[in-house]
Amino acid sequence: MNQTINEFMSKVASRNTHEPEFLQAVYEVAESIIPFTEENLKYKVNKVLERIVEPERVVIFRVPWLNDKGEVEVNRGFRVQMNSAIGPYKGGLRFHPSVTLSVLKFLAFEQVFKNSLTGLPMGGGKGGADFDPKGKSDAEVMKFCQSFMTELYRHVGADVDVPAGDIGVGAREIGYLFGQYKRIKGEFTGVLTGKGFEWGGSLIRQEATGYGVVYFVEEMLNVKNDSLKGKTVVISGSGNVAQFTVEKCIQVGAKVLTMSDSEGFVYDPAGIDAEKLKFIMELKNVRRGRIKEYADAFNCQFFPNEKPWGIKCDIAFPNATQNELDESDAELLVSNGCICVAEGANMPTTPQAIHVFERAKILYAPGKAANAGGVAVSGLEMSQNSQRYSWDREEIDGKLKVIISQIHKTCMKYGEEADGYINYGKGANIAGFVKVADAMIAQGI
Ligand code: GLU
Repeated sequence: MNQTINEFMSKVASRNTHEPEFLQAVYEVAESIIPFTEENLKYKVNKVLERIVEPERVVIFRVPWLNDKGEVEVNRGFRVQMNSAIGPYKGGLRFHPSVTLSVLKFLAFEQVFKNSLTGLPMGGGKGGADFDPKGKSDAEVMKFCQSFMTELYRHVGADVDVPAGDIGVGAREIGYLFGQYKRIKGEFTGVLTGKGFEWGGSLIRQEATGYGVVYFVEEMLNVKNDSLKGKTVVISGSGNVAQFTVEKCIQVGAKVLTMSDSEGFVYDPAGIDAEKLKFIMELKNVRRGRIKEYADAFNCQFFPNEKPWGIKCDIAFPNATQNELDESDAELLVSNGCICVAEGANMPTTPQAIHVFERAKILYAPGKAANAGGVAVSGLEMSQNSQRYSWDREEIDGKLKVIISQIHKTCMKYGEEADGYINYGKGANIAGFVKVADAMIAQGI
């Protein structure tokens, strides 16, 4: 089997040189899909895996804009339209200096499987720019977003491709992007999700990714007659996903010990409570400040340039960014007694670190399953936009819980191994693949 995977990977690598993140994401999927297609020959005969790793379309464009000093700045914009077999392309936009074609292709690839797992009719895509919103004024962010949409508008549409937020793209950016789309096209449609509630957005969209990750962990623990109540939790990140993971953890009675940003992490042994979380939300979302301010405000320790994985905990949520948790971090977590790792971020765990969790037989939830709640509620926002209607909080939260529970069930179905260990990574890959692959076969070459 290793030989087949190696042959497959060397073909993919020769076509996608200098794309380490994309190749990493493909390898992780190929490890579970190749053995599966050996037993389900229609996928092999139709070369579905070879086709699925090739984006349907990639758009790369210039984004020129004027900074506050009146100088010209130039960034590179992208939209990767990966797969539309089961619905219009759907996936976020990331504005961060680390954005490259490789990063967006890995994200778009993961998105195909994630969206399929939600059970909603959404294909997969991802986009963004190497723009750094950090330190930019509100006016500069607006000008950048307007320039970005001035090109992107011709590639997207409510039934074509529906972007949303990701790192560096929140409610403010979605507003500026939506305004520019409407200005150019002269139509008010659901071309983006994550919109403000007053103008076509969905309740719970903001909370959905973080809440969903916690619902997924509750599902995994339930299988073992356990729950999050009373558990200690370590979280990385302090953006949208991390904030609402903390909020839900507090609601279900877990104790959150850490949060972080690119400068380091704060450790609060007393636990981050609702009051302190309010401070963080104001700090990050309104003042756009750094997490170290929390340490001063609540008299606890800040660890500069460190990650929180050495803090003893029951549950870990890597909620910041790709490859933030490596093999030695994983060994630390396991040796400190961690029983469950759930990815709020996309591909935060390196392949070697995943193998550490699998060998230790602890619960490991891959991002494409655990953080699918965000895009699931985006799908519900699209449904509400099509109906020109909006559902209340209870209705959406209820639907989110059902979707997460279904994802958990399908991961179990395809992920259970001979000794009873549930390999959620394998389960998510196969379950996500089957639906898209069947649609691709049905639609012909
Ligand atoms: N960026 C989010 C993700 O990684 C959400 C995408 C969306 O809502 O379209 O799934």
